[in-house]
Amino acid sequence: MPTYTAQALVLHRRSLGEHDRILTLFTKEHGKISAVAKGSQRTTSRLVGATEPFTHVRLLLATARSLDIITQCEIVNAYPALRTDIERLSRAAYICDLLDAFSHPHDASSSEAVFELTCAALFLLTQPSAWLDSIIYAYDIRLLEILGYAPALEYCAHCGEPLQEPPFGFSPAAGGALCARCRHTSLDVFPLPADTLIALQTLRTAPPEALLHYLPPKTVVSSIERALRSFIRFRAERPLHTVEFLDSLRIARN
Ligand SMILES: [Zn+2]
Repeated sequence: MPTYTAQALVLHRRSLGEHDRILTLFTKEHGKISAVAKGSQRTTSRLVGATEPFTHVRLLLATARSLDIITQCEIVNAYPALRTDIERLSRAAYICDLLDAFSHPHDASSSEAVFELTCAALFLLTQPSAWLDSIIYAYDIRLLEILGYAPALEYCAHCGEPLQEPPFGFSPAAGGALCARCRHTSLDVFPLPADTLIALQTLRTAPPEALLHYLPPKTVVSSIERALRSFIRFRAERPLHTVEFLDSLRIARN
């Protein structure tokens, strides 16, 4: 059987029979793949820890007729700090869900950049931060940008002019922010306050250290959320179940 190596993040797993699991992996080299982790449901298996969602692993895989098989595995980072805190855990799960929803199997065209971005986001989630959601909103924008689905945030999604003079609008169907002249051209448009546009631009470009210290006012937080949620809902081919879980945590907190 031919073999190949890969660095991967575990996106999710499901049972295969009594002892095995099928893992959905995002690999640096080959994009999203599925592979069998034989015996990984046995408590004594070497693969047990390596099948946990968002674990970073280094793999040797054997090519098989249907699903490839994991033959060797080494854990690079299990992100233990994310597993003992429900706020961090739920956001790491969201990152995996979003990546799974927006990536196509065996599309390696931007897999290295996506892999690096995702590892960086998971690492930032382990760090003390002023506003944990800055990491997932920055991830939303940057992942979509790499994959070619970015919302327009610097130039009007309709006419392409720089977004300079408010009032601005936001339309998922039009592709992002709209200038004052174009903000009535789309049926699903809603107002985008100027400070929210600046916040979205900050989330798009801020370096890691700045993201960890970033805390916009509450009104801006809710309109960032509205813009990105609606945009992702419009673009994703399936609903993101982890969003409901994040919402239920928010409700419980308030
Ligand atoms: Zn315009």
